[in-house]
Amino acid sequence: MVLVSNAQFARPALSHQAEKMREEHHEADIVVIGGGIFGCAVAWALGNQGRSVILLEKSLKEPDRIVGELLQPGGVQALETLGLRDCLEEIDAVKVLGYDVIYYGEEVRIPYPANARDAAQDAEKSHTDEMRGTKRKRPEGRSFHHGRFIQRLRQKALSNPNVSVVEATATELIRCSFTSQILGVQATRNGEQDSYFAGLTIAADGYASKFRKEFRDDTPIAKSKFWGLELIDADLPMPYHGHVILGDGAPILLYQIGTHETRALVDIPENLPSASVQAGGVKGHLRNVVVPNLPKQVQSSFLAAVERDRLRSMPNSWLPPTTNRAPGFLILGDAMNMRHPLTGGGMTVAFNDVVLLAELLSPENVPNLEDTKTVLKQMKSFHWRRKNLTSVINILAQALYSLFAADDAQLKALQMGCFQYFKLGGNCIDGPVGLLGGIIRQPFVLFYHFFAVALYAMWIYITSGNPLLLPIRMVSSVAVFWKACVVIFPYIFSELRS
Ligand SMILES: Cc1cc2nc3c(=O)[nH]c(=O)nc-3n(C[C@H](O)[C@H](O)[C@H](O)COP(=O)(O)OP(=O)(O)OC[C@H]3O[C@@H](n4cnc5c(N)ncnc54)[C@H](O)[C@@H]3O)c2cc1C
Repeated sequence: MVLVSNAQFARPALSHQAEKMREEHHEADIVVIGGGIFGCAVAWALGNQGRSVILLEKSLKEPDRIVGELLQPGGVQALETLGLRDCLEEIDAVKVLGYDVIYYGEEVRIPYPANARDAAQDAEKSHTDEMRGTKRKRPEGRSFHHGRFIQRLRQKALSNPNVSVVEATATELIRCSFTSQILGVQATRNGEQDSYFAGLTIAADGYASKFRKEFRDDTPIAKSKFWGLELIDADLPMPYHGHVILGDGAPILLYQIGTHETRALVDIPENLPSASVQAGGVKGHLRNVVVPNLPKQVQSSFLAAVERDRLRSMPNSWLPPTTNRAPGFLILGDAMNMRHPLTGGGMTVAFNDVVLLAELLSPENVPNLEDTKTVLKQMKSFHWRRKNLTSVINILAQALYSLFAADDAQLKALQMGCFQYFKLGGNCIDGPVGLLGGIIRQPFVLFYHFFAVALYAMWIYITSGNPLLLPIRMVSSVAVFWKACVVIFPYIFSELRS
C-alpha cells in the first residue's frame, strides 16, 4: 500500500516548470474545489505524492459552523496515516473516550472498546513485537471547534510546496467540446473570472454541492434538522464522553468542544407540532420539550444558551454513494455521500476515503492522471473498497436515527430493546460502539448486532406486561421484527448500488 504518512515519506519535489505552470498558468495535475474537511486532506495527500495541486476555497476565513466537531477514533487513525495528526493540537481539542446514553434518565456508559481492531490489521501485526503479548490501549476520539480544526488543515495544505491554495469560488466546469471530458473549472477570484486546468478535477464542495447536480439525478433527503447551541461551562454527567439523550421526542447530543464549551445538537423533525410558530417556534420547543428531558445539572447552562445564542440549524441529510463515471472529474466528500450526523461519522468517512483514494491514484498506480480510463477503473475499485468502513457508518447512522427518533409503537419497542441491549455490556456495547467509532470495519458485525437488538426487543416486548396477554403479544411482536427489517433493508440496498 502506498501511504502518505508524514513520518516515512520524502515528498517528491515538483519541477520548476510544473510550479511555473501552476502559479502562472493555473495548470496542475489536480484542481480541488472546496477547502473543507475532504478538500484540504486530499490536496495535502496528493501533493505529498509529488502531484501538483490547486485547492480552491470560496472563503479562507475561519468557518463558524455547527458541523464536524467530534472525530471518531477511526478518523483520528486516518489523520495519523495521512500525517495530519498534529492538526488536532493547539486547538483546545478534548479527548473522547466513548458515549453516555441516557434513556428517560437512566444512564449507560459505552466506552470505545479496548483491543478492538480491524481483522486485517490483526492478521498483519499479530506476530510483531509491537503486538505480541500486549493489550492495545483504548482508542480515543477528539472533539473541537470545527473552524479551528479546518484552519489547521488549511495551514497544512498551505505549507505543502506542491499545493497552491487559492481563495476563489468555483462557478462552472470547463469541458472539452469534443469528448465532454472535464478539463478544469472556472472560478471567481477577487470579483474576476479565472480558469484553472487539470488532468483531474475533484469537487469536494460539501453538502449543498453545486456540481453534484450536473452528474446525479437524485438529491439528498433531509427529514430533520439539527439545531445547535453552545453551552458554557456545562456540568456534563460524564466528561470526555459524547452524550446521547433519549426521551420524549427526537435525540439530543451533548459533547464538549473546548475546555469551557459544550455543543448541544437538538434534532427537530420536519413539521414537528411542538416547534410550530403557534407553539412558540424552535425556542418554545427547546424550553418546553427539550429542557425537561435533559439531565438536571445541564438544564441551567442549556437555558442560558437558548436565551443568549443565535439559533442555528443544519439539515440532516442522507445521500447514498455512487460511482464516479465522468472522465476527468470526481465528486467526493459530503458532495458524494452523506448520512445522519447522529453518530458523528462524516469526517471519519472523509479522512478514510482520502487514505484509500491516495493509494488508488498514487503515481505507482496511475502515472498520468489524464489517463481517464485508468482513473475511472480505480474509482470503481474505490466505490467498492470503501464499503467495509463507510457502509457500516452510513447504515448504522440511518438505522440508529430511526430507532432513536422513534415515532410509533414498534420503533419505541426497538428503541427500548436497543437501550436494554446496551445495558447487557460486554460485546453488546463493544460491537456497536466499535462500528460507530470506525474501529470495526465489518458490515457483518453490524447486521449481527442490529438483528440481535431486534430479537431482544421482541423478547422484551413479549415478556413485559400482563402474562394473560402473552399470546397476543407474541403475535404482535412480529410487527416489531418486521419494523426492524423495514428500517435497515432500504439502507443496505442503497449501499449495493453501483
Ligand atoms: C449538523 C451536523 C453535525 C455534524 N457533526 C459531525 C461530527 O460531529 N463529526 C463528524 O465526523 N461529522 C459531522 N458532520 C458531518 C461533517 O461535517 C461532514 O461529513 C464533513 O464536513 C464533510 O466534509 P466535506 O469536505 O465534504 O465538506 P465541507 O467540510 O462542508 O467542506 C466544503 C468546502 O467547500 C467550500 N465550497 C463550497 N462551494 C464552493 C465553491 N463553489 N468554490 C469553492 N469552495 C466551495 C466550502 O466553503 C467548504 O469549505 C456533521 C454534519 C452535520 C449536518
